[in-house]
Amino acid sequence: MDSFSDAHDMLANTSLVERFLEYVKIDTTSDEHSETCPSTERQFVLAELLVKQLGEIGLADAAVDENCYVTATLHGTVESKETVGLIAHLDTSSAAPGVNVEPILHEDYDGSDIELDDGVVISVRENPELEKCIGDTVITADGTTLLGADDKAGIAIIMSVLEFLQKRPELPRPDIRIAFTPDEEIGRGTAKFPMEDFGADVGFTIDGSFDGEVNIETFHADSAYVTITGVSTHPGTAKGKLVNALRHMAAFLSRLPAEISPERTEGREGFIHPYELTGDASSCKCHLILRDFDRDAVSALGGRIKEVADSVLKDEPRLKVEVEIKPSYPNMYEHLKDRPEITERLLEAVRRAGIEPNLKPVRGGTDGSMLTQKGLPCPNIFAGGVNFHGQTEWVSTRSMGLSLCTVLNLMTLYAS
Ligand SMILES: [Zn+2]
Repeated sequence: MDSFSDAHDMLANTSLVERFLEYVKIDTTSDEHSETCPSTERQFVLAELLVKQLGEIGLADAAVDENCYVTATLHGTVESKETVGLIAHLDTSSAAPGVNVEPILHEDYDGSDIELDDGVVISVRENPELEKCIGDTVITADGTTLLGADDKAGIAIIMSVLEFLQKRPELPRPDIRIAFTPDEEIGRGTAKFPMEDFGADVGFTIDGSFDGEVNIETFHADSAYVTITGVSTHPGTAKGKLVNALRHMAAFLSRLPAEISPERTEGREGFIHPYELTGDASSCKCHLILRDFDRDAVSALGGRIKEVADSVLKDEPRLKVEVEIKPSYPNMYEHLKDRPEITERLLEAVRRAGIEPNLKPVRGGTDGSMLTQKGLPCPNIFAGGVNFHGQTEWVSTRSMGLSLCTVLNLMTLYAS
């Protein structure tokens, strides 16, 4: 059986790097304050370019819908039981500027700190992965913007998989469905996902980080909304009457367990994170996010919020205190644990690329968290990038090549 493990051979035989450099120059920053889908019109520019290029590769049904979801099909060369989806996102994070990205190629990287404009330094001390990239071509932005390897590396890898397979019809492959989604960075990547038309049985997002990283677990996520309403009066005649909602909200926040916070937790530990506060002395509302890998543990965090809210009400019974808890996204492992063959194939595909799989729980969500819940099991595969969402973002072309090898191996496994 064919397996692929030579990243440099892949780079030589596909236009992976050229594609990546072309895509990162297109500004696709999403905007969480926008209510439209896509949140920004500019995502259509990349979407339409990809439709054109998919057509050039030979995927005749490539199209973008009114919500900016790009889909296409590469037909299989064997009868396979399952149609496999490959998914990456079009948008980039608004946490750093994404316009006028100037990618810089550091060829034959020598292992030293990388100095960029504006005093931005990508240090080896803070980026131990760089030690594995000596001799590689490392790509960065110029220091003034993010790079956008998250997730244009994923898009370039998928495009190169298609280009490679299309030229080699003798290689066994299953039916492959492609989706490029808008607005992943603002948590809406699957809001209008054309699930029924997509028709895949299993999917993989190519949106992870460095060599060998694969994710079959994400946070289980809820949101809590605590609203405290006091009693308003003119402050000049307020004695004994006014109940200030802000003061009681401050008490509520101060009583939350400080050790269960994002700034004090890591690994598999969960947290409560007060995220946004709005309102005034008469009424105010706090949005908190609750995270853990375990559904019951997240429910317990919701219980803590209610206890603390009750204690505030006990201080001042004239308050009105409301707690609303809403699900955000589930840990994909809740579904993937019942489909161990998916993880086994994925790990085997990484091993065939010549690297040790790094099975890492994601302290966040992916498009795959929601897709898995909606019935499309969807782990995440590394795309090579490091330091997402900032000016120090970088990627090694070798790592992108290994991701490409991994995806090709996975297609071979699904065709057998
Ligand atoms: Zn991403």
